[in-house]
Amino acid sequence: MARLCARPDCHEPAAATLSYEYATSTVWLDHLSDERHPMNHDLCGRHADRTSVPRGWQLRDRRDVVPLPLFGDNALAS
Ligand SMILES: [Zn+2]
Repeated sequence: MARLCARPDCHEPAAATLSYEYATSTVWLDHLSDERHPMNHDLCGRHADRTSVPRGWQLRDRRDVVPLPLFGDNALAS
């Protein structure tokens, strides 16, 4: 079953997972998690990009962290 954006009136496929921790007033955006967690929210890319946090909270977008490439452009050339 496809996972959709959690925002009302949005029917885009989920592309990111939002999670938060009250103790540290932090909100995280990650690539869509494999497992749905009741404390997390799935968001489409558009709504993930528009995420804003309350005053005093910090937003950590971890989607830009690119994993080390296992297969570079030259992998097949050598
Ligand atoms: Zn959305």
